[in-house]
Amino acid sequence: MSTILPGGTIGILGGGQLGRMLAMEGRRMGYRIGVLDPVENGPAAQVADFHVQSEWTNTQRLMDFVTQVDVVTIETELVPWRLLADIEIDKATRPSSCVLALVQDRLVQRQFLQDHRFPQTPFASIKKGIDLAHAAQHVAFPAILKKRRSGYDGKGQTRVASETLLSQAWAELGEVPSVLETVVPFKTELSVVLARSLHGDIQIYPLAENVHRQNILHTTRVPAQVANTVRSRAEELAVSLAEALDYCGIMAVELFLLEDDILLINEVAPRPHNSGHFTFGACVTSQFEQHLRAICGLPLGGPTLLYPVVMVNLLGDLWRNGSPQWDRLLTHPRVRLHLYGKDQAKPGRKMGHFLLFEENPDRILSEAETLLHCVTQNKSVSSSWTAAHPIEKTPQMTTDDQKEDETVELSGLEKHLALSSSIFSADFFLNDTRGFSQSFGETPS
Ligand code: AMP
Repeated sequence: MSTILPGGTIGILGGGQLGRMLAMEGRRMGYRIGVLDPVENGPAAQVADFHVQSEWTNTQRLMDFVTQVDVVTIETELVPWRLLADIEIDKATRPSSCVLALVQDRLVQRQFLQDHRFPQTPFASIKKGIDLAHAAQHVAFPAILKKRRSGYDGKGQTRVASETLLSQAWAELGEVPSVLETVVPFKTELSVVLARSLHGDIQIYPLAENVHRQNILHTTRVPAQVANTVRSRAEELAVSLAEALDYCGIMAVELFLLEDDILLINEVAPRPHNSGHFTFGACVTSQFEQHLRAICGLPLGGPTLLYPVVMVNLLGDLWRNGSPQWDRLLTHPRVRLHLYGKDQAKPGRKMGHFLLFEENPDRILSEAETLLHCVTQNKSVSSSWTAAHPIEKTPQMTTDDQKEDETVELSGLEKHLALSSSIFSADFFLNDTRGFSQSFGETPS
């Protein structure tokens, strides 16, 4: 494939936030961006040069789209791999259909890791009811039962406390082909985001340390607070995996760090990853630019971290009482806000994220939590930062709000937030007047 220089056209299959940030970075670099996505005016379509609104399975529209672009990429691994196989007959596609086929099926991915002797969670395949007993003998409990296909952010998976509850769990998942995995007692979750160029060059971003809440990524702190030996081992594993896949583009390898510094691979994402969002603002080259460089045959950019950072996901739950008060967040001088342009908020839906730059690795997480609380509360919270930047002076505050400020303490706020996220289940909107026009499919990230 010849190099695709700025001025060329990049086709993105899928139109969520990853496509949006790819499109933003691509346009900055001077590329034209086309998006194929079933949703009208989704996050990526809003910022693309052109949008073809179509289901991926509409072959005619898909092929028309492909003729308009120089290279095809994906922003979600939910794109059927067979479509990519058809496209790659005539057009460069990154990642390849082989890689996509591998990650779309958890069992195939696990078997690939096993064949290449990568360390991973003990697992067993369940295709039919008859496999349950065999799986239970090979996997220690508590375990997690995960659908082989279409699961992400904890969807399509359920915890199984003991062998006796396994058949019930399998019924709950719909008796579809699944993988049973041991729950591993990890100390920390880590991820390596790296890019591999068409020529096999590799650039690795600083190791990321992730915290999930209810199986959804909550924060990513970079650099990860782990020993250098762990960092090197994590990088080695990710590089070996990228090479074993003969990968081109950006990819993320999610890892569990156990006692005795044992690392296990959880899964691989062949695309920009939520835990790499910090790179868009905190690194010389963002993961989105890096992906575009790789798939266009350009040299990779520097992955250097410019400043220690934490990324905090902003989920739809924050809209429970109306639009969050972003002005409070933006009062902080070292915050960078990204909102994805989604017009429907749902609990657990990724609506945006913010970056907080802070040198002190211990303070950075608590400060980020304080900021997150601020956007939904008409109450002040105490911290070194709020002392320096008193949020009770924001213009929207009413006299009543200020009275409440004096009585509510941080511990009370935390309890309230924890409660509200567990009891809140209904769909709701950013803008009520738009109504229930669409039910958006969420994409992994
Ligand atoms: P996944 O969709 O497989 O990436 O899972 C989402 C999150 O669930 C992970 O980031 C972990 O926090 C948790 N998780 C998944 N699999 C396991 C496992 N085998 N042991 C412990 N935690 C897990």
